[in-house]
Amino acid sequence: MRKLLNVLLFLFIIHAAVAQPVEVDYRKPLNTSISLSANFAEMRSNHFHSGVDLKVGGVVGAKLYAVADGYISRINVSPFGYGKAVYINHPNGETSVYGHLDGFNEKIRKYIEAVQYKLQSFRVDETIDDPDVLPVKKGEVIGFAGNSGSSFGAHLHFEIRKTHNQVPTNVVTRDIIRVMDNVPPNIHSMAVFTLDSTFSITTPRLLKSAKVMKKGDVWVPEGNTTFEVYNPVYFGVYANDYQPNNRSKFGINHMTAYIDSVAFFAYTLDEFTFEETRYINSFIAYEELVKNNRSYVKTFVEDGNRLSVYKNVVNNGLIVLNDTLEHTVRMDLFDDSGNKTVLVFKVKKAKELNPHNNNLFDPEKFRPALWNMHFNCENEGIKVYLSEESLYSNMLFTLDSSAVNTGFYTPVWTIGNFATPLHKHMAISLKPDMPEPLKKRAVIVRINANGKASSVGGTWDEEKNFIMANVAEFGSYSVAVDSIPPTIKLAFKKGADMRVHKSLTVTIADNLSGIDTYNGYIDDEWALFDYDAKTRSLTYRFDAARIKKGQRHRLKVVVEDGCKNSATLDAEFIW
Ligand SMILES: [Zn+2]
Repeated sequence: MRKLLNVLLFLFIIHAAVAQPVEVDYRKPLNTSISLSANFAEMRSNHFHSGVDLKVGGVVGAKLYAVADGYISRINVSPFGYGKAVYINHPNGETSVYGHLDGFNEKIRKYIEAVQYKLQSFRVDETIDDPDVLPVKKGEVIGFAGNSGSSFGAHLHFEIRKTHNQVPTNVVTRDIIRVMDNVPPNIHSMAVFTLDSTFSITTPRLLKSAKVMKKGDVWVPEGNTTFEVYNPVYFGVYANDYQPNNRSKFGINHMTAYIDSVAFFAYTLDEFTFEETRYINSFIAYEELVKNNRSYVKTFVEDGNRLSVYKNVVNNGLIVLNDTLEHTVRMDLFDDSGNKTVLVFKVKKAKELNPHNNNLFDPEKFRPALWNMHFNCENEGIKVYLSEESLYSNMLFTLDSSAVNTGFYTPVWTIGNFATPLHKHMAISLKPDMPEPLKKRAVIVRINANGKASSVGGTWDEEKNFIMANVAEFGSYSVAVDSIPPTIKLAFKKGADMRVHKSLTVTIADNLSGIDTYNGYIDDEWALFDYDAKTRSLTYRFDAARIKKGQRHRLKVVVEDGCKNSATLDAEFIW
């Protein structure tokens, strides 16, 4: 009996020691009715959208409410990304995130401004581990909706993440954000692809794309043709969801594909990690995106694609037809509310073999780069390095150069194929022919299809022979020089009386290497200027706690670009 009691006591202690997850009943982050302008995991450039965007009627300043009790665990302020953002940890092991704020509540504003003044930096990312520093209650106003960071129109970006691994979750399928939606997904077009093989390396190729139309309960390709295909074959669907009384486009939540009623491919976008979000470039048919701006989700999972959203994929989603009969492909697409759209079409194996397959390639022109190996390519003017798993599939790597154009100090190097996605940054080193004094103003530039050059930065090796940058895309690169300092423009007249104003603004811009540092001083003291990269503006909110009211003040703004060209503006104003 005694022993049993001890065991029970022991079990009780164990039970008490393991923190029980506390149930949390979330409220809405806004007091207005919920209307989305973006849903969870909809497809963006190089990433899946990590939350939902909630409309605020286009008006800056809507009150934002803590969705549950908790404490502020992070405050991030940036001219890019989430702009001004608040993170709240809740006792259920989840974190709510609020992005693109116009401003914070008084308590949070004071806290973060003290950090900004201490570090003399607008840009700060403050983590707070102590729950007693900034506790919040459910329904407390934490800030105001805005348009800060990479936002193009006032809205709230809202997320619920798992605190321990920061994995964002789908708040609509979890019913945390309630959306009334009876509109099924809409299919724009579909596509059939094959893999051409050269030697042992395969290259994706679009065989046919087709518009689709509704026929009874299902969607079919226009003309209802049977697609003649080469082995192996896979499929793409370009679709969006819509919601009632809402003009925004949304992403598809989950999809299952069948051949002759047997499922061979499925995915669900209810959560993903930030580490894997760039695999979106393999989730879609990347070449169709960059060439034709169509986002086909493909049923093929490449070897180097480690996205965790796939379910029960057979043979990487590749279909091999062994007979010449017609086969039926069906794709079931679902939105976040479970509304379903079905696409049906027929395929059959072509009579001839794929004419693009061949077992020869010119080793002078191509070098095989394998997805799971690192890759090096060097000659006297250039070095290219890919670490392992930079590619999703093996590729035939190409390197071409053209003549040196005016304004550039190397040939234009075309590295790889711009229609092949890169998962990791590629290290490129270029050897420019340029006078020594210009070297400190040099940057590597990416040259787009229209010939426009944009800086990707650059650092010199020890001998100052090669300039190096890590770049995110294959394409055309060269070296240019930025010797023009940034511009700084006052949005008011020098000496102006600003006493009726709440803030003052200057606009800053740079021609090539981009704004690197920006600092504003009032009466020779560092002052907090909010930098908004998209409007190129620096804004100081008059603060009677820091500058004396009713007198003349000296303003100084110093801006430096990525090549250390510096500009200074001096002015006076009355406030
Ligand atoms: Zn968003």
